[in-house]
Amino acid sequence: MKPIYFDNHATTQLDPRVLQAMLPYFTEHFGNAASRNHAYGWEAEEAVEKSRRQIASLIGANAKEIVFTSGATESNNLAIKGVAEMYAEKGNHIITAATEHKAVLDTCKHLEKKGCRVTYLPVMGDGRIDLDMLRDAITDKTILISIMYANNEIGVVQPIAEIGKLAKERGVLFHTDAVQAVGKIPVNVLADNVDLMSITGHKMYGPKGVGALYVRRKSPRVQLTAQMDGGGHERGMRSGTLNVPGIVGLGEACAIAQAEMPEESKRLQAMRDRLRAKFESALDEVFINGSMEHRLPHNLNMSFAYVEGESLLMGIDDIAVSSGSACTSATLEPSYVLKALGLGDDMAHTSIRFGLGRFNTDAEIDYVADKLISVVQKLRELSPLYEMVKEGIDLSKVQWTAH
Ligand SMILES: *Cc1c(COP(=O)(O)O)cnc(C)c1O
Repeated sequence: MKPIYFDNHATTQLDPRVLQAMLPYFTEHFGNAASRNHAYGWEAEEAVEKSRRQIASLIGANAKEIVFTSGATESNNLAIKGVAEMYAEKGNHIITAATEHKAVLDTCKHLEKKGCRVTYLPVMGDGRIDLDMLRDAITDKTILISIMYANNEIGVVQPIAEIGKLAKERGVLFHTDAVQAVGKIPVNVLADNVDLMSITGHKMYGPKGVGALYVRRKSPRVQLTAQMDGGGHERGMRSGTLNVPGIVGLGEACAIAQAEMPEESKRLQAMRDRLRAKFESALDEVFINGSMEHRLPHNLNMSFAYVEGESLLMGIDDIAVSSGSACTSATLEPSYVLKALGLGDDMAHTSIRFGLGRFNTDAEIDYVADKLISVVQKLRELSPLYEMVKEGIDLSKVQWTAH
C-alpha cells in the first residue's frame, strides 16, 4: 500500500482528463508547431494557440501574453534575469522577500554576483510582507519587485493587488511566482497590476516539465532579454521547439481549474478546516504557522510541540507529507520560510505541511487526523519536557546544566 498523498504543494497527480487531451499529440498529431508549410505543423500550432487561450482566460490575460517554458523554475529565471538584463540602463535594484521559492532567491543571488543590488524583505509573523517596508525599499534604481502570490510551505497569500498598485505608481515592474495560486484561487493579472507571472503544469494537475510566463504587452509593454538563443520562438523570448503535448495538458488543466475552482476550493477548505479542528480538539500545544485569513484553502501547516520531528515523521510513514526540516544532503536544516516567520528551530522541526488536493477524500482526512493524533500522544508520553509543561513548570525559567 502506498502512503496517502497529502503533499500537493510538491506536485499533483495528473488529472486523467488532462492525459486524455494530451495523448493524441504524442502520436497522430506529432507536428512541430513551428512548421508553417503543412497540416502537421498547423494542427500542432492550433493546439498550442488553444492552450494559450485557456491559460489566458484563467488569469485574465490576452493569449498573446503567454510564453511557454519548461516550468516555473525557468519562468522565474526568464522573468527576473530577463528584466535585469533588458532594463540594466534604467537601474539595477530588485526587491523580493525572504520566503520566496529557491527559484527566485537563487536567481537573485546569481544577479547579485553580476552587480545587481537585491533587497530581501523580511516577513511579519503571519508570513505576509509589510507594505510600508516595501514602499520604503523602492528607490529610483528599482526595476523589479518579485513577490510570490502564495507560499508553497505555509500557503500564505501575499497582498498582491496592493503590491501591484504600488509598483505601478512607482513605475517598477512587478513579477509574481503564482505557481501555488493559479487554478486554486481567483487570479487576475489586470486587477492586480501584475506585469510578469510564473505558472507550472504539475502543481495544478497538469504534466511536469511545462510551464508558462505571463508577459504584459500593454501599459506597460514588458520586454525581456531571452535566456535561450535559437529559433526565436515565443516572440523571441524563449527559443526551442514547443512541447506540444505538455502545452495541451497545461491548457486543459487550466480549463478544468477554471470550471471547477469554486466548488473544489470550497470542498478542500472544508476538509482542511476539519483536519485542523480534529488536531485542536484532541491535542494541546499545537500551533498554526502563517496567517489563516490570507491562506490557500487547501493548505495547513502546523507545529506539534514537544515531539521530536524525526520520530513524528517515522510514526506517520503511511502518509506522504512534508516537514519543516528540509533534509538536504546530510544536514537537517530547519525551513528558512518558517524561520523567517520567527519560529525557533524546535518548532520548525516539528512542523508538518498538509497539502490537500483534488483526489483526496473525507475518509483520508479522518485517517490522517487519527493517525497523527495517536502518534503525537505516544511521543509526548515519552517527553520529559511535555511532562514538565503539564506540571506547570515554565521551561523558559529552567536553568539547564550542560554536561
Ligand atoms: C514548485 C514551485 C516552483 C518550481 O516549479 P517547477 O515547475 O517545478 O520548476 C516555483 N515556485 C513555487 C512557489 C513552487 O511551488
